[in-house]
Amino acid sequence: MISIAIDGPAGAGKSTLSRKAAKALGFIYVDTGALYRAVGLKFLKSGADEKLECDIEDILSDTKVDIRFIDNEQHVFLDDNDVNDEIRTPKASMMASAVSAKPPVRAFLLEMQRLLAKENNVVMDGRDIGTVVLPDATVKIFLTASAETRAQRRYKELIEKGSEVTYDEVYEDMLKRDYNDTHRPIAPLKQADDAVLADTSECTFDESLELILSIVKERLGE
Ligand code: C5P
Repeated sequence: MISIAIDGPAGAGKSTLSRKAAKALGFIYVDTGALYRAVGLKFLKSGADEKLECDIEDILSDTKVDIRFIDNEQHVFLDDNDVNDEIRTPKASMMASAVSAKPPVRAFLLEMQRLLAKENNVVMDGRDIGTVVLPDATVKIFLTASAETRAQRRYKELIEKGSEVTYDEVYEDMLKRDYNDTHRPIAPLKQADDAVLADTSECTFDESLELILSIVKERLGE
């Protein structure tokens, strides 16, 4: 099976670009951030806050997360409910970042991700795909852009969805998440030694997609 691992910080455009790239290649797209978001949502629903002063193992033992593909689109289910929209709020983002630093949470989601890549050609995006989940991925890309560019893009996306956020809030949240994700002791966000760096700060969406597809094709020898 062929696996394309795309890692990078929040707001680099990983999910939209990975989805499009998967479509162009005829692979399935696996958004691993959505899995952490679903777990984060479960903790929110259990009454926990970002400090996570709760029995993590106990909550996980009563948690079911799975992915189903509906019309070729990934839908994440939490305890058999489709939570695809519910996991996209700023609160769910921060909670995802908090739970993802916990080793039992990472262990809880690891096998599911590996199995998906074992059974399908995948474009999988996240923070630790090239370093931990799929260290032997066929192609690894580290996708990034400046913090300002990423915050602008995310702000625009949230406003279009009707969220009442300010640019400054989005920017601050993004810096905080970047900090959490790069400084946690387990599976921190970092570029794998054999990943290709793609900085899209100066690229339009189409140019970014072109860049990714050209890296993939070159690596696959096409
Ligand atoms: O990619 P997305 O922004 O949806 O991810 C939400 C959060 O989940 C990230 O901030 C990160 O803390 C966590 N995550 C992770 N490992 C992954 C994917 C996401 O720790 N592979």
